[in-house]
Amino acid sequence: MEHYQLLCDISDLNHLFRQSASVENLLDATVQMVTRHLHSDVCSIYLYDEETEMLVMRATAGLNPESVGQVRMKLGEGLTGMALKELRPICVSRASKHPDYKLFVGTDEEQFDNFLAVPITRGLTRIGVLTLQRKKRTKFREEDIRACRAVASQLANIIENARFVIGLHVENEPAPPAVEQVWHLPAGLEVIHGQIAAEGVARGPCRVLDKERTFEKLQQRTFDRSYTLEQFDEAVRQTESQLEELQSRVEEKLSDAASLIFASHLLILKDRQFVGTMRRLIEDGQNPPAAVLQVARQYIDIFTHSTNRYIREKVQDVEDLITRLLGNLLQDADRPTGLAGAIVIARTVFPSDLLQMSSEGVAGAVLVGGGVTGHVSILARSLQIPMVIANRYELLAVPDGTEVLLDAETGTVFIAPSRDVATQFERRHAEQRRAGAVPAVRPQTHTADGTRVRLLANINLLGDIQAAHAFRCEGVGLYRTEFPFIIRRDFPSEQEQYQAYRRLVTGMRGKPVTFRTLDIGGDKVLSYYHNAEEKNPGMGMRSIRFSLRNQPVFLQQLRAMLRAGLGADLGIMFPMIASTDDLRQARAALDEAQRQLDREGVPHNARPRVGIMVELPSAVYLADSLAAEVDFFSIGTNDLIQFMLGVDRTNENVADFYIPHHPAILRAIQVVVDAAHRHGAEVSVCGDMAHMPEYVPLLLGLGVRTLSIDPGYMPRVQQAVEQTHLDAAGELAAAALAAGTVQDVARLLGLAPSAEQPS
Ligand code: PEP
Ligand code: MG
Repeated sequence: MEHYQLLCDISDLNHLFRQSASVENLLDATVQMVTRHLHSDVCSIYLYDEETEMLVMRATAGLNPESVGQVRMKLGEGLTGMALKELRPICVSRASKHPDYKLFVGTDEEQFDNFLAVPITRGLTRIGVLTLQRKKRTKFREEDIRACRAVASQLANIIENARFVIGLHVENEPAPPAVEQVWHLPAGLEVIHGQIAAEGVARGPCRVLDKERTFEKLQQRTFDRSYTLEQFDEAVRQTESQLEELQSRVEEKLSDAASLIFASHLLILKDRQFVGTMRRLIEDGQNPPAAVLQVARQYIDIFTHSTNRYIREKVQDVEDLITRLLGNLLQDADRPTGLAGAIVIARTVFPSDLLQMSSEGVAGAVLVGGGVTGHVSILARSLQIPMVIANRYELLAVPDGTEVLLDAETGTVFIAPSRDVATQFERRHAEQRRAGAVPAVRPQTHTADGTRVRLLANINLLGDIQAAHAFRCEGVGLYRTEFPFIIRRDFPSEQEQYQAYRRLVTGMRGKPVTFRTLDIGGDKVLSYYHNAEEKNPGMGMRSIRFSLRNQPVFLQQLRAMLRAGLGADLGIMFPMIASTDDLRQARAALDEAQRQLDREGVPHNARPRVGIMVELPSAVYLADSLAAEVDFFSIGTNDLIQFMLGVDRTNENVADFYIPHHPAILRAIQVVVDAAHRHGAEVSVCGDMAHMPEYVPLLLGLGVRTLSIDPGYMPRVQQAVEQTHLDAAGELAAAALAAGTVQDVARLLGLAPSAEQPS
């Protein structure tokens, strides 16, 4: 490999990025490095601004340095603009003769006639262009293009995270006066009952993360003591090293998902203008905490009023950064603390927030609003953060630091508990811990009369692999590949996906692994994908529709899966299939991915099992036609229930209407299982219904022999299977199918009255 050293160096760009004092430094370092390795006379980086639709030169080695920030072109203009518009490298040996060539006077580029431009993109986002130029003698070759592509792909990650601080420098405006406000502890909040989103117990001081009020609260602080400039500088240093440590910790723990979670914080902190303005204000006599808040307010104002959603989302990062910086500066007893050991009370939590909380060692979480089968809950289980969802907005007014006992085994939250309650809680949980060593699980599962039932794992993060082994799962029935996509702040590249998927395949040591293609949309939002705001995202541009519409993203993912599945028992599954047509289009993309890999001679799995998730009523009605064209079905009860009963799975208000044992759901499962059996297709259930012991005999009675569940549920599900006699289960299922009402089914299943009927 000709440019091996370059590839080694760019793989270290993240490192370089963290060491750079600013984005500009990073870009400068990159153009220097590329020029050196590729023996090029010039290397420049242009970044694209979606709002103005202009490409602007941001760094150059070899051209007049004064061109930086000055040379601008429209999308499609000149060879550089053309590379980005057409999303392909442009390599020309006599650039000045090319009809699309455009000379920028003053750049001194006339002398460099060999030209190469490679677009920098992330998924569907246009980020910029990397250009190389050489004097007449040496043309660019195929290896140069390949090397530039690799650099561009690595840069894409970093720039996407960094570009919001570029062009952020604005004139300072005087700050409005802080608002005086008094808060009261709400009455009647001592004990709250909610739904269990992720099991476990926790005790600790609470931290309310209310995105709408965090900064407001900070501004209410008064600062009686005076601080010095040296103390401020020390606080900046401390904050920087804390953030760097957090970033390394999160990378270690969650390597598949945690790309640069704290990058924005670090970037803002390193931005000359940010700390520089604070220092200037302090030098002019302002008390450092007040200076910090004043500059923070300016940044928050700019971000809040941006038309770009991506930038608006950075408000939270600024608030978080300011909280840390002030905490380090004040060093007093009531300084804002991190999340370690805290019970977070929050609303509107995104998966990336949860990752951040986890990396900081949060003890538990109470969410105000949401649903237990929503994806934040699913992720909380993987991250082992006990979580309860309670629809009580007053919780957001609980003062920080109030003691909270979180019992996410019963769904109870105690706010400021009395000593008696706390003692009882501790006693009960000490007993549970003693009794609670991981129960033994047998490597294979059989019903009481000896029929084999396969218990597979649902995997959300690679960290779940360990649990899958500890609980002896027989393979992976569902890998939700969207988590790395939603947690990150940009599209992972094919190579990044390949690496994560390969780790799953090798981690499962020869056991079958089923990947589900991207299932975003609904409550799984990509913050970096600028889709039109949807009024009803659950039924919007989601899941397989997103993939079919965005073929480059889909093909990259399929290629990564096929490559990762080399030599493995690989399954590829398409979510939210509504018709045979959807299935055929998805298969066509899979065939295309295979053809591409064949053509390129890239080793991959040529014969994956292909299946679909059955989670839409239309798929139930088409079960026979679909079964004829797949190797397997996996029934996604979370969505199937949502769409059959018209009940939003993320809405706690309607949780009572979300009824897995609804007769219509049971009949749908029956139809799907029978169709699969008729066509010799495998069938499993992978929604949450599969891990509820009360439904296990019913599912077995309906003919299901494979369940895919979060690994932690293995002991109870195995036990439920082992206690089931298939004859009795068959009779139970037949009776349930014949039942006309929810109450009748509930009685047959012996369910408690509270679960029996919607209130
Ligand atoms: C389901 O819908 O049941 C399922 C397993 O998929 P998800 O929960 O990821 O939507
Ligand atoms: Mg689903």
